[in-house]
Amino acid sequence: MATEKDSPPAQTPLAAKSPFELRVNLGKDVPEADVRSALATGDMGFLHSFTTGSAVDGPGVRLVAWTAGCMWRCLYCHNPDTWTMTNGIPVTLARAVEEVGKYRHGLKVMSGGFTLSGGEALMQHRFAVKLLAAARGMGIHTALDTNGYYGDRLSDAELEVADLVLLDLKGWDPERHRRLTGMEIGPTLEFARRLAARKRPVWVRFVLVPGWSDEPAEVEGVARFAAGLGNVERVDVLPFHQMGRFKWKALGLEYKLDDVQPPPAEAVERACAAFRSVGLKAY
Ligand code: SF4
Repeated sequence: MATEKDSPPAQTPLAAKSPFELRVNLGKDVPEADVRSALATGDMGFLHSFTTGSAVDGPGVRLVAWTAGCMWRCLYCHNPDTWTMTNGIPVTLARAVEEVGKYRHGLKVMSGGFTLSGGEALMQHRFAVKLLAAARGMGIHTALDTNGYYGDRLSDAELEVADLVLLDLKGWDPERHRRLTGMEIGPTLEFARRLAARKRPVWVRFVLVPGWSDEPAEVEGVARFAAGLGNVERVDVLPFHQMGRFKWKALGLEYKLDDVQPPPAEAVERACAAFRSVGLKAY
């Protein structure tokens, strides 16, 4: 189990090679009152890391900031160290904006942008809004990757700070969704409908997990819902993988998907075909 002794050194850099670096306890010394103040003002956030060069978190090449903090408990989560906000590095808004600014020219040249992901970015919604707004103010394309559960924390005006929402739809059957994520599906669907009503561009992300989300009824349910929204520009079918397994072990968490294999290419193609059959672009 990861302990303080196993933590990266105090001066852990914001940049990481990938979000698969295990990071714990980096904000544990921040007083509770300061955590509350950070959440209330958005002037400080807790970040797992920044990574560069992503080609899968929005259009073009992306700079991604990975927030710490998530109330969901997806059985397949590949970054459970991001569940706890104080595992992240406390970062002032100014420092985070400066980090984004360093890449502004390169991102524009590569037709890319900045993506705020997590954890669940809207756990720190005030920080998320301020950081996305600052990036947008620099002329950078912005994307918000979210499970949507806390979408109602954002005003209609605040929705505009994300040029694109990467909305994670994790299943269709409510009971199965509850068992897979620990949370209700309703608020996510409500947020999806709200984004549609406001004509905000959305890419749906659907993790294909054998035995969980690969059944035809699950895929077809999500596909029909997404197609009915009218604002879903594409669907990314993300095959389940085991790259985060070591984190569950290191954190002393019970990992229930130990024996689950990544889906074969044909299963991914079948899921893509189900999305395409209702008129969506799927990859
Ligand atoms: S919503 Fe994302 S970060 Fe949260 S538990 Fe699920 S996969 Fe992990």
